Amino acid sequence: MINVLVTGALGKMGREVCKSVIMAGDLQLVGAVDVRGEEQDVGVLLGGGEIGVPVKNDLAEELSQKRPDVMVDFTVPAAAAANAKAALYRKVRPVVGTTGISAEEIKEIMEIAGENGTGGVIAPNFAIGAVLMMKFAVQAAKYFPCVEIIELHHDQKLDAPSGTALKTAQALMEARGDFPPGERTAIEKLPGVRGGCFDGGIRLHSVRLPGLVAHQEVIFGGVGQTLTIRHDSISRESFMPGVLLAIRRVMNLEQIVFGLESLLCE
Ligand code: NAD
Repeated sequence: MINVLVTGALGKMGREVCKSVIMAGDLQLVGAVDVRGEEQDVGVLLGGGEIGVPVKNDLAEELSQKRPDVMVDFTVPAAAAANAKAALYRKVRPVVGTTGISAEEIKEIMEIAGENGTGGVIAPNFAIGAVLMMKFAVQAAKYFPCVEIIELHHDQKLDAPSGTALKTAQALMEARGDFPPGERTAIEKLPGVRGGCFDGGIRLHSVRLPGLVAHQEVIFGGVGQTLTIRHDSISRESFMPGVLLAIRRVMNLEQIVFGLESLLCE
């Protein structure tokens, strides 16, 4: 049995993770933390009976008391790195889905994990289809001279562009080494209308609307043709197989792994 604590337990993703952990035969939900902690039992919160796990708001205390094997974090960019470090200092393995953590913070988390030999996973997208979208985009990169990325998310998302869009752009740049920024728009009538430029090359566009969950298109352009690779997460359940895989696999890791793809068999 793997004992799991969920941070951000009252959030949209946190609730879904709690539900999936409760339903998995080999996992046990031992703790739930949220800054909006209401002491309400997670089972009741999810519309069922009590399971003896109240939502608390003090992560350090919960980590010390419940001593989980794994901490799953779906909170906010400003909190996720500190939460991961709090877990690592207690040799609890972090599985971080929160996006918007800076590269410096990720490096620091990796160093702490390396020093105390504790494994962890940081993945901007736990949907297996999204990982495949990135993989297929990398394959296509060498055949097309130009590419732009459009990511579309629900209007409550705090960071832009999405972690997945940045990771895709990074992977495309690594695959090709260059991507010209495309045509020069001579007259930009609205500042920023052509999106943000990643590494001086790939243009990223962020759409935020109610009704969306998490979607991305990678559009390649060549002479007389385009290729669009698109992934849609139409519900938050789409992330759960990836999260459960990470919880199970992190038990055998001794360092931080970045990206779900590192956990998938080739
Ligand atoms: P949400 O706003 O619904 O939930 C966030 C929760 O975290 C809230 O309940 C909030 O009270 C809580 N919180 C804030 N600070 C906290 C702290 N210091 N300690 C404990 N809890 C704290 O957001 P959401 O839609 O559930 O998304 C959460 C994060 O997950 C976002 O960064 C989002 O981009 C990311 N996300 C990642 C994936 C993935 O596959 N990796 C998928 C979907 C969303």
